[in-house]
Amino acid sequence: TADTAYQALTVETLPERLKDVAALIQHVGQDAATWQVQEVGDGNLNLVFIVSGPNGKAIVKQALPYVRLVGDSWPLPLYRAFFEYHALRRQAARDPGAVPVIYHFDEVQAMIIMEFLAPHVILRRKLIAGEQVAGLAAFLGRYCARTAFRGSELSMQSPDKKADVALFAGNVEIPAITEALVFTDPYFDADMNSHTEGLAPVIAKLRNDIGLKVKVQQMLQQFVSNTQTMVHGDLHSGSIMSTDDDSRVIDPEFVQYGPMGFDIGMLCANFLMAYFSQPAHRGANLSAYQEWILEVIADISDHFEQEFRHLWATERTGILYPAALFEDQGHDSTAACDAVLAGIWRDAWAVCGIEMHRRCLSLAHNADFEEIDDVALRARLEARNLSMGAELIHTADTIADAQAVCALAREFN
Ligand code: ADP
Ligand code: MG
Ligand code: MG
Ligand code: MG
Repeated sequence: TADTAYQALTVETLPERLKDVAALIQHVGQDAATWQVQEVGDGNLNLVFIVSGPNGKAIVKQALPYVRLVGDSWPLPLYRAFFEYHALRRQAARDPGAVPVIYHFDEVQAMIIMEFLAPHVILRRKLIAGEQVAGLAAFLGRYCARTAFRGSELSMQSPDKKADVALFAGNVEIPAITEALVFTDPYFDADMNSHTEGLAPVIAKLRNDIGLKVKVQQMLQQFVSNTQTMVHGDLHSGSIMSTDDDSRVIDPEFVQYGPMGFDIGMLCANFLMAYFSQPAHRGANLSAYQEWILEVIADISDHFEQEFRHLWATERTGILYPAALFEDQGHDSTAACDAVLAGIWRDAWAVCGIEMHRRCLSLAHNADFEEIDDVALRARLEARNLSMGAELIHTADTIADAQAVCALAREFN
């Protein structure tokens, strides 16, 4: 654009300001006067516009210099769009087709123009509505395995990995939100916390559990200091868009290099919260739908392991576990892969429990629970979720597999 300084777009100003952007002309139409613009951002942070015209539609996502959910009292750097753009490029390379196609990036305007996904809707809406998505677990399991593996030294050479870690280390304030809201605030009376009436006894139990708080702090230390792979950083059901049989991952502005188990742990937590919230959203088919959600969790885990083992066997091109130490000496490396996977799951189940806590206790609750009008019912369902979260944090190191997590969910339900 001809603009030299950042300025937030509006529905009114967008056509005039972006009328010369080739990507929009190509995907929407030559004449900006024919464009229709709709602001659809339902997230906590950014502006998202759908631009429609004779050629089709495109998404224009622009960062705001503050947290949308809170207002300009909480400034947030525009540079997060730069990291989101670079994360999308890496995700597209590491798992082709998993993220929207990027058409254009404007660093000064903190603006990404990308493919309009249709008829995809936010997965969380489908889970609340009781809809199934074919191929969901395979897509998510593969996505998590491919991005975890291909962003690590299992795949990368040291110089490339270090350069990328250095680049993404510039994304400071956004991961700091996770450090506070996810790992810290749930466990004390933080300013921005809120919770459903009736949960005070459960919350007191969590905050009086010193072992639990120590374990969560250990996970926070991991999160800030372990750069195993490039994580999405915000992989919940609101960052996934699906049709009945096709899914994509969006919104990686919380990207950083972090533990390989982080994304899949947060993801499973969001399916578990969907599971625990179902009694408020379903009628006759409640148990069948709840069981489908658990099946998705178990299948994500299976597909993750399958894909990770496949990449281990076929793409171990980095500096870690080289064939020189194993296959070239006639030694099988399956046990080494088993150990790496076990470490990923230990981290993932602890992160899973922490995510289950923060979505009911700190800022940014999820619609699965938030849309339950009956406060007493909401408190009862959230209490199940909070208690299972604590169990996961305590037992993360010894949980056998995702099936055991599903069995635990049935117990707490
Ligand atoms: P935020 O960072 O503010 O959470 P998101 O990237 O999650 O923003 O986008 C907010 C909303 O905009 C999404 O929930 C979705 O409804 C819509 N959206 C975002 N990207 C696309 C896309 N590529 N295609 C269609 N809709 C999208
Ligand atoms: Mg979002
Ligand atoms: Mg696909
Ligand atoms: Mg976002």
